Amino acid sequence: MLYVSTRGQAPSLSFEQAMMTGLARDGGLYVPETVPVLTHAQIADMAGASYEETAFAVMRPFIGDAFTDAEFRALIAAAYRGFGHAARAPLVQLGPNHFLLELVHGPTLAFKDFAMQLIAQMFQASLARSGNRITIVGATSGDTGSAAIEAFRGLGNVDVFILYPHGRVSEVQRRQMTTPTEANVHALAMDGDFDDCQAALKDMFNDFAFRDEVALAGVNSINWGRVLAQVVYYFTSAVSLGAPHRRVSFTVPTGNFGDIFAGYIARRMGLPVEQLVIATNQNDILHRTLQTGQQKKSGVVPSISPSMDIQVSSNFERALFDAYGRDGAVVAAQMEELRSAGAFKISQGAYDWLKGQFASGRASEAETSGTIAAMRAATGELLCPHSAVAAKVASAHLGPVPMITLATAHPAKFPDAVEAATGIRPPLPARMADLFDRPERVTRVANDLGALKAIVRDRITT
Ligand SMILES: *Cc1c(COP(=O)(O)O)cnc(C)c1O
Repeated sequence: MLYVSTRGQAPSLSFEQAMMTGLARDGGLYVPETVPVLTHAQIADMAGASYEETAFAVMRPFIGDAFTDAEFRALIAAAYRGFGHAARAPLVQLGPNHFLLELVHGPTLAFKDFAMQLIAQMFQASLARSGNRITIVGATSGDTGSAAIEAFRGLGNVDVFILYPHGRVSEVQRRQMTTPTEANVHALAMDGDFDDCQAALKDMFNDFAFRDEVALAGVNSINWGRVLAQVVYYFTSAVSLGAPHRRVSFTVPTGNFGDIFAGYIARRMGLPVEQLVIATNQNDILHRTLQTGQQKKSGVVPSISPSMDIQVSSNFERALFDAYGRDGAVVAAQMEELRSAGAFKISQGAYDWLKGQFASGRASEAETSGTIAAMRAATGELLCPHSAVAAKVASAHLGPVPMITLATAHPAKFPDAVEAATGIRPPLPARMADLFDRPERVTRVANDLGALKAIVRDRITT
């Protein structure tokens, strides 16, 4: 199995190389050359299996010879051992034909743990074999950073630097990044918003001399390994509602398009997915793209669902690549237009394809709060604001096919928004109850590439 870049100019890589590289050297993102399709019988066999067994069955065809079957099973087992729920991703019913997929039981209480815990295991196994060391630099709107730090803290041969927008993450998110004491963890609070952090990260990757000097590796959702790990829970949840014999739909709270793209991969692998609904908050560039056929940046407006406060949705490029029949030159041209002019127009054919694959909706701030309150009243469930955005959008897409709404974070990660909506302040699970008492360690940095690179060079420990 080889991986190709969405811009068509970088060399094809193995799974292991694509995972260790992150961003392709032509600025594109790696995608599998072909998506393996599972048979009806293989999907039916997942009924009643553990999360780990299904994870093996779904991901094995993508990894080539990176790991033996026994090694891969061991890495999967280690990745999910620290989760606070035996089912890993349990499903709760919200109403007639509406279900909530709880992706909130990982060590940092957000769905990003599903991918980050697994790729940390895979990185470590790969580095142990090669004897190499790497520098991970990630940009975060809050949850990626905490998940990455939690997954990589204390691992050998790895330093992890996380850039987050100063003052724009929740206190729980910030503390999860600033309180780990391991020397290989470096939290950097940057002046600017998430898109600035992501742009600085891309600039570091595009500086090939620096990239090679510090052995830069990326764990943002552009990393194919992360997308792959997220495909699994589309299978576990759909099968528990009767797939492959019955169709299901999904609504996904979306920012960088990684999670919903994993749902699209699940569909390509043969999972009978009816609707894939993109749910955005007031930063609705993806919803507008689906409505107009034009992608147009506007400023980020901070919301109560900060992990989706994004205007440059990196993984959308992967969908665009398929929308254009895998023509990397067209994708490269459109991405250049977005960068230089802040907008691009999708061709009619590609737009029709996108509308055939995805539906979309948007929830305002008031609708998000209202949904947190209404869900609490109707079901007793407390939703985090991101999950509430999705539940609101899903409510407009309910029908005869069961709808699975993804809950992407625990309400205790965003207690202010939940308390404002319901009057209830959700407590942290007991295993992290002392988070507010631990000392913080963070470096404030300007939005300046030279300064950032100097800090990374200076702080590397291994
Ligand atoms: C990252 C994140 C999202 C958005 O996921 P993408 O893969 O970037 O679309 C949604 N909700 C929460 C809680 C997140 O942390």
